[in-house]
Order: sequence, then structure tokens, then C-alpha cells
Amino acid sequence: MSASDDCLFCKIIAGQIPSGKVYEDETTYAFKDINPKAKVHVLIVPKKHYANVAELAAADPAELAHIVSVAQNIADESFHGAYRLVFNTGLDAGQTVFHVHAHVLTGEKLDE
Ligand code: C5P
Repeated sequence: MSASDDCLFCKIIAGQIPSGKVYEDETTYAFKDINPKAKVHVLIVPKKHYANVAELAAADPAELAHIVSVAQNIADESFHGAYRLVFNTGLDAGQTVFHVHAHVLTGEKLDE
């Protein structure tokens, strides 16, 4: 999948739109959600454009596993390794940005 010109998260990754970066490596970028739903709410995205987690899992399962390990590291630093990992997938599940992103919710005890 190539970067889409009108993809908001591709623009964030490229630095064309500012973001609160918390982590970056060769394949992966993580930044603070602008509308946090927990004390720590970070979005982790692959730098390559995939529309959703199913596309990512099919094309690059190692990157999906890497995203989980980045989430674990953020939670280890923020809240003794406890976190919620959410991939909204599809409009009717609340996905609004069609560049796959993991929501990492941590930093405090979460509601059940
Ligand atoms: O799962 P969903 O597609 O709804 O998540 C998109 C997320 O991207 C939202 O939580 C929204 O707050 C976040 N966002 C952001 N920075 C932007 C635009 C959206 O953190 N510039």
C-alpha cells in the first residue's frame, strides 16, 4: 500500500501536520491522541499506509506484532504494563481515520 495523498495520518508521519510524537522508528510512529480518552492515550501507526488492522495483518504480520510491543513499552513506562489496545475497524465500529492505528489507553486504572 502506498501513502495516500489525502490521508491525515500519512501527513502526520511525514511531519506535514504537527503531532505530539512519543515514539518513532524505521517502520512505526506513535503520537498522543488529540482527544484523549484516558490519562495516556497514544495512537501507534505503521508508516506504510494500510486502511485497517485486517489489511495490515495480512500484508505485514511482523509490523502488527511490533505495534503490540511498542504499546507494551509505552504501558511499561506509564502504568506498570497495564493497557487497553483498540483497533476500531470500519465506519460502524467508530473508525474515522482509514490508516490503521492502535489506540493505547493506559496511565491510570481503566473503567471495565
Ligand atoms: O479509531 P478512530 O479512527 O475513530 O480514531 C481516530 C483518532 O484519531 C481519534 O481518537 C482522534 O481523536 C485522533 N486524531 C488525532 N489527531 C488528529 C485527528 C484525529 O489524534 N489530527
